[in-house]
Amino acid sequence: MAEAPVQLVWFKRDLRCHDHLPLAEACALGPVLPLYVIEPSLWQQPDSAQRHWDFIAESLEALAHALAELGLPLCVLEGEAVEVLEWVTAALGPCALRSHQETGNAWSFERDRTVAEWCRRRGVPWHQARQQGVIRGLGHRRGWATQWEALMAEPLAVPRPARPPSGWQELPSLPRARWRAKRLGVGREPCPGRQAGGRPAGLDVWHAFLAGRGVRFHRDIGSPDRARRAGSRLSPHLAWGTLSLREVVQGLRRARGERRDDPEWSRALAALESRLHWHCHFIQKLESAPDLEHRTLHPALRGLRETPAPERLVAWCEGRTGVPLVDACMVSLRETGWLNFRMRAMLVSFATFGLGLPWRDPALHLARLFVDYEPGIHYPQVQMQAGLTGTNALRVYNPLKQAEERDPEGHFVARWLPALAGLPPTWRHRPWALPVAERTVLGFHPGRDYPLPVHDFESEARRWKREFHAARRAPEARAASEALLERLASRRPARRAGAPAASPQLSLFSDSDKETP
Ligand SMILES: Cc1cc2nc3c(=O)[nH]c(=O)nc-3n(C[C@H](O)[C@H](O)[C@H](O)COP(=O)(O)OP(=O)(O)OC[C@H]3O[C@@H](n4cnc5c(N)ncnc54)[C@H](O)[C@@H]3O)c2cc1C
Repeated sequence: MAEAPVQLVWFKRDLRCHDHLPLAEACALGPVLPLYVIEPSLWQQPDSAQRHWDFIAESLEALAHALAELGLPLCVLEGEAVEVLEWVTAALGPCALRSHQETGNAWSFERDRTVAEWCRRRGVPWHQARQQGVIRGLGHRRGWATQWEALMAEPLAVPRPARPPSGWQELPSLPRARWRAKRLGVGREPCPGRQAGGRPAGLDVWHAFLAGRGVRFHRDIGSPDRARRAGSRLSPHLAWGTLSLREVVQGLRRARGERRDDPEWSRALAALESRLHWHCHFIQKLESAPDLEHRTLHPALRGLRETPAPERLVAWCEGRTGVPLVDACMVSLRETGWLNFRMRAMLVSFATFGLGLPWRDPALHLARLFVDYEPGIHYPQVQMQAGLTGTNALRVYNPLKQAEERDPEGHFVARWLPALAGLPPTWRHRPWALPVAERTVLGFHPGRDYPLPVHDFESEARRWKREFHAARRAPEARAASEALLERLASRRPARRAGAPAASPQLSLFSDSDKETP
């Protein structure tokens, strides 16, 4: 009898065994070879960073461990995807390829097209399963929320033990001992406070949230300090797939049921659930409008604010703008790879409105710093915070107002900018205004001990707000807004029977920049 074809399971942003449909299907069919491919040209993209790989390497170790329990190896090969598939099929004979669908950047989209073409030529079937509520190539949002609900309610896909194909040991797999040490020739800024990778670390984060951390979610997620504890901190685990969105949604719903009589927990968990909707809601935008990675979304706003200002860009990237909350956010992000939503939004708003920078370089800089970099959330969010969707209320975050509201005592700023720690709280957010008499007493001199603001950000922001409002009022701009809403806005989903009150609803890009108080 002819051997069953080898089932190649290609892991990408889904570094787990649990709730992994391609793996579960492969294990039911025949010899299975789990593969991870280190693609050199992926790592040469301007949004790649060593901290992404460091998180992935830890996740691969945990994945290898989980696969071993199923009786399977993890083969880590280095080369372009098609090249690797050539070696594998040459060594193992007839194969079928299985993976999850990916909504990545333009590079991964092109790579998938090349792989699809290769599969077609070689007669290799490529089965791609959905792991998120994102629909390929969707041109409108009718029925979208309902299908999201249906996908999240499906049973989890749990693989059973299987065997690897004979001959897989001949493949030049990178030994496990070298995964963590691997250097990919990309930005190597150290990230000592990074979240650990791997499914066990993801489960710890999630369980700790449900066990107590999360009860202040809705109260504390706007604060750059307190959000570190009160936020779910699931983002890198969802971005690299060490946890599945479906298992998190199902776990969350169980917890909501158990705590329905506790008003604090009910509010906290409802607020988290709405964010899990936004996760796919945003990724769907990039899936439906992939050019928003490179191009301003709203046609009427293209060409505005596109003059580079290299010095201001460098100051912003290095956390030396002279505006303490902005600089503290950048320094803490560099050190930890994470920032809460509101401060991410403020950083982009400040870069684009306050410093007048074109949005693309700041977007790439943040992509490299976020350990949870998820193109489908990142680019639509950057465009929204830069005011480029043309359909949302224009929201410009003033860092001084944010500082008063979110860091009134200046603890966050003092922690990340030690130069300001010796100042009384009143001056930590406005060191340039420290009265002359106090400078000598405190031994602090603005401009010497901490930079003066690089730019008059308040008048710059007023200017851009005026220009954006004017551009959006033109009749052609309104027509374009209608078309964008039709293509990308989501509709209110039906309420599940017996479900707690629905989370705040989604329209095009909106709501997600508002936090529950
Ligand atoms: C400019 C900008 C860029 C961003 N880039 C990314 C990115 O690359 N990767 C990323 O995961 N998130 C991104 N976000 C969204 C958000 O800031 C982070 O998801 C959140 O801060 C992660 O912390 P958490 O896991 O504790 O989130 P929680 O608040 O606990 O939320 C749980 C999960 O819901 C999703 N989520 C939360 N907020 C949003 C949102 N506003 N839009 C879409 N999904 C959301 C995330 O998957 C998150 O892990 C960005 C936001 C802004 C303003």
